[in-house]
Amino acid sequence: MLPGNSHVRRLSQAALSRSQFLQLAAGALVPFVGLPLSAAAAKNPELAQNDGAPETEDEAASDRMGAILVSQFGPVKIHSYLSPLDGFHVNSQMIEGPTAVVIFDGQLLLPYADEVASYVQTLGKPVDRIILSHAHTDHWSGLQVLTERFPDARVFALDGVAGQLRARGQARLDSFRPIYGDRIATKVTIPTETIAEGLQRIDGITYDFRRFVDAESDLQLAALLPEQKVLMAFDLVFSPNEHAFTLVDHFDHWMTILEQLKVLQGYDTITIGHDTPVHRSSIDSTISYVKRAKEIHAASADAKTYSESLKAAFPDLQHAEWVDLSARLLYAAPR
Ligand SMILES: [Zn+2]
Repeated sequence: MLPGNSHVRRLSQAALSRSQFLQLAAGALVPFVGLPLSAAAAKNPELAQNDGAPETEDEAASDRMGAILVSQFGPVKIHSYLSPLDGFHVNSQMIEGPTAVVIFDGQLLLPYADEVASYVQTLGKPVDRIILSHAHTDHWSGLQVLTERFPDARVFALDGVAGQLRARGQARLDSFRPIYGDRIATKVTIPTETIAEGLQRIDGITYDFRRFVDAESDLQLAALLPEQKVLMAFDLVFSPNEHAFTLVDHFDHWMTILEQLKVLQGYDTITIGHDTPVHRSSIDSTISYVKRAKEIHAASADAKTYSESLKAAFPDLQHAEWVDLSARLLYAAPR
């Protein structure tokens, strides 16, 4: 049972324990909603092996609620903003080139989107555009703030994403309202531009945009930065330390996509949707996870069995409680 808005609003972010949050979130999560992974936001030891020489910075911003990780690749910097848990630990990636910044994904909660915007402004360069990776709510609700703060920035997404948001976006926001009150967007921000697949140069940086269907989400953008050898995988790849989300029965196709990503040579740094950047070996760990989840799904008649079996198969992964949410959504869908 969800408590009323007034009760929820009294809970500060800090006061909202994980179990409380889970209890609240469980009532509102539906397959269209992106789900969080833990992040623990600990520095990933693998990062030290990358050319990008990532480092945390701007410790002066001690009152910031989210965490910033910066990776430098010559003249290009990737600033990753990781939200706190109640914002689903979602990332916004800010790609800083010589003269401009490109923002990928807009956060779930408006205060965190506001932190992204304020951080971008400290870079002193205009926001060229905002790109939405997929239509899960935790990646786009905060676009409301970003488009207010950067009114000249056009919002891009893959063909089909705008239609998904028009069809279901408002209902998703309404489902979050009892949990988050005015911290969730009041309106759906619809991307106005369609992102072209293939190679593009933006502010002197080469991007290779790829479109994928039927993985963690129905429609998912990925972006390669061939000169920096960075793969922006968003929700195609998950952290090796944490459970992935298995919301729909797309196991086989998701694994096919991961095999395609594996073939990409030299892309040792992967930015992901819900944790700090990971090493390419995370593609393998995600494949292993999805494969096992598929087997367990085939053998489990109900959500409870699926959830218990998947947790037992990966006892060391963090945030096992999120498996319950995946199970609920997976088994709510027609089989
Ligand atoms: Zn997501």
